[in-house]
Amino acid sequence: MSRVNEMFGSMVFNDAAMREKLPKETYKALKKTILNGKGLDPAIANSVAAAMKDWAIERGATHYTHWFQPMTGVTAEKHDGFIAPADDGGAIMEFSGKELIKGEPDASSFPSGGLRATFEARGYTAWDPTSYAFIKENTLCIPTAFCSYCGEALDKKTPLLRSIEAINKQAMRVLKLFGNEDVKNVITTVGAEQEYFLVDKKYFDQRNDLIYCGRTLFGAMPPKGQELDDHYFGSIKTRVKAYMRDLDDELWKLGVLAKTEHNEAAPAQHELAPIYTKTNTATDHNQLTMEIMKRVAERHGMVCLLHEKPFDGINGSGKHNNWSISTNTGVNLLEPGKLPQENAQFLTFLLAVIKAVDEYQGMLRVSATSAGNDNRLGSNEAPPAIISIFLGDELTAILNAIEKDDDFDQAEANELEIGVHVLPHFPQDTTDRNRTSPFAFTGNKFEFRMVGSSFSIAGPNVVLNTAIAESLKQFADELEPQKANFTAALNKLIKSTIKKHKRIIFNGNGYGEDWFKEAENRGLLNLRTTPDALPQFIDEKNIALFTEHKVLTKTEMQSRYEIHLENYCKVLNIEANTMVSMAKKYIFPSVTAYIKDLSNTINEVKSAVPKANVNAEQKLVEGLSKLVNLLYDDNNKLEELSLTALNIQDLQKRADYYKDTVIPAMARVRSSADELELITAKKYWPMPTYGDLIYKV
Ligand code: ADP
Ligand code: MG
Repeated sequence: MSRVNEMFGSMVFNDAAMREKLPKETYKALKKTILNGKGLDPAIANSVAAAMKDWAIERGATHYTHWFQPMTGVTAEKHDGFIAPADDGGAIMEFSGKELIKGEPDASSFPSGGLRATFEARGYTAWDPTSYAFIKENTLCIPTAFCSYCGEALDKKTPLLRSIEAINKQAMRVLKLFGNEDVKNVITTVGAEQEYFLVDKKYFDQRNDLIYCGRTLFGAMPPKGQELDDHYFGSIKTRVKAYMRDLDDELWKLGVLAKTEHNEAAPAQHELAPIYTKTNTATDHNQLTMEIMKRVAERHGMVCLLHEKPFDGINGSGKHNNWSISTNTGVNLLEPGKLPQENAQFLTFLLAVIKAVDEYQGMLRVSATSAGNDNRLGSNEAPPAIISIFLGDELTAILNAIEKDDDFDQAEANELEIGVHVLPHFPQDTTDRNRTSPFAFTGNKFEFRMVGSSFSIAGPNVVLNTAIAESLKQFADELEPQKANFTAALNKLIKSTIKKHKRIIFNGNGYGEDWFKEAENRGLLNLRTTPDALPQFIDEKNIALFTEHKVLTKTEMQSRYEIHLENYCKVLNIEANTMVSMAKKYIFPSVTAYIKDLSNTINEVKSAVPKANVNAEQKLVEGLSKLVNLLYDDNNKLEELSLTALNIQDLQKRADYYKDTVIPAMARVRSSADELELITAKKYWPMPTYGDLIYKV
């Protein structure tokens, strides 16, 4: 066995481990639970727990934890030792079925939005047997869902599991209509490409903005930015290479299929792409990937930045959520078919996605929104805030032809042939892809590029799964009663869907000014910032969607709206405060020290040589003191505005105030500080520069 083979999944209680460790009957019962999503018989829970514990202890584990994904966006754990007192005064290692199935963390310390007021603060975690347990840092981690005592979801996993169920149900109805009798269930698959920056820890530690906010709030551009594009796919530095190798090892042990790693467009920026897997696992794995990325970086004397926009003027980081849907028999339903029959089925699923993205563009937008991502979206290198779909010219032409084809003759339609007889096989090569589109068809999957690098991918996938479930439901509702003349009914449905939703298709340059106007004419939403987008959570149409498919209740939607608003306000409050204090405590004193030294120099030179020319020094002092006064005033103003914001009771109004008033005030402070950086001598400047951060890794 190769080293990789031996290592891969060695810390995961996966199918192989289960088969080896569990009694046959227990294994069978657990397998059934996993496949059918049916509840686990409590009687066998004890048997599973005992086997898991032995397996974990063999691998050095001493503790266990329920591992869950609360609304903070990071994972949470509460460790308990396996240890229990033995009768003889010694200790034994214990882990019961009850402890496996249910945990009770203190729910009040996690964001719950309105739910805290309405319901009991207590919550519980419940084992999700559909994702494998694993060992991390000597702790057995049991993936769980996190709910309130009344069953309200307090986490990201619960709605994800519900949405997976919803799309399975509706997709199965549609597949039946196409005669797929052998298919037992439908899964969605995701591959989340992860972008990140690496900076040297010694520089990181000298910047409070990086420490408190994860991004720089100050920093002038170095003479060289990313204009030469020499970093992208360039050779990877030795230090970074060592990091990536170590990271791969750690991820492989956890069964994460980390595959490709390369440099990104910006200096010091990199990307990790895993091989896709089912959505639930992909979500767990992406959370683990982010956590391990940070931890391994520390070991290498670096810090991994997952913020969407660590540096102004330099590409930000996103997460490309590659999404597709396939059958348990391994058929990718977004793979264009070779036979007319497959071709019609492919078009049906393709149009289900197009319709969903058009109808729920607001919800999709909100699934990729945060204070951090606002700094990235709509700027030069990231997709605009408008949702549109890139299909490519070839496929768009086919849809246009189908829409216009009036000659459809029902009498002749003895086989399932829609528009074109055989679809071309779409090239999956990256070069001709339009990178400016937020949502692109890439041959046999869709790539949602708006998602921020620090996000949990649960949110976007909940929206995709649920909105597409709704399209499929409507298709099935319309087609099921027309089984007798299915081909004609399908043809009609496909045509009308294209007509109705083609406005969302856009193959042009998403960064162009023209597109903003064009999108407005087409009636597409342009929700530019988080406060603009968040009310989508309480929009009637969206609430109807999520309640219809039993993914989120109205109360859960309301609470998510509040949690996100609150988070936005908190992030901006921290950023504004960090900025104020950095300006006061670091920049102002440093610049005035420089001014003082310059002034002393002027005086000393003059007293030594009364007629000496000190014009340059004087000009410099003038320039510095002008800017430092501006900085002083703007900084005081920012401090005042940030206090005002805190006193606004209504959360939406407070968020709007940050967006409209505080953010522009932050930009003013930054502008004079960055100008000062450019004319202040290096030895006076109180923090590492962009040059230090992005070139000295
Ligand atoms: P790139 O976007 O860089 O050209 P690929 O097209 O090879 O790279 O794949 C990008 C990501 O999409 C990878 O994480 C890959 O695993 C994932 N992917 C490929 N096929 C599917 C699929 N059917 N469902 C979900 N994700 C997929
Ligand atoms: Mg990609």
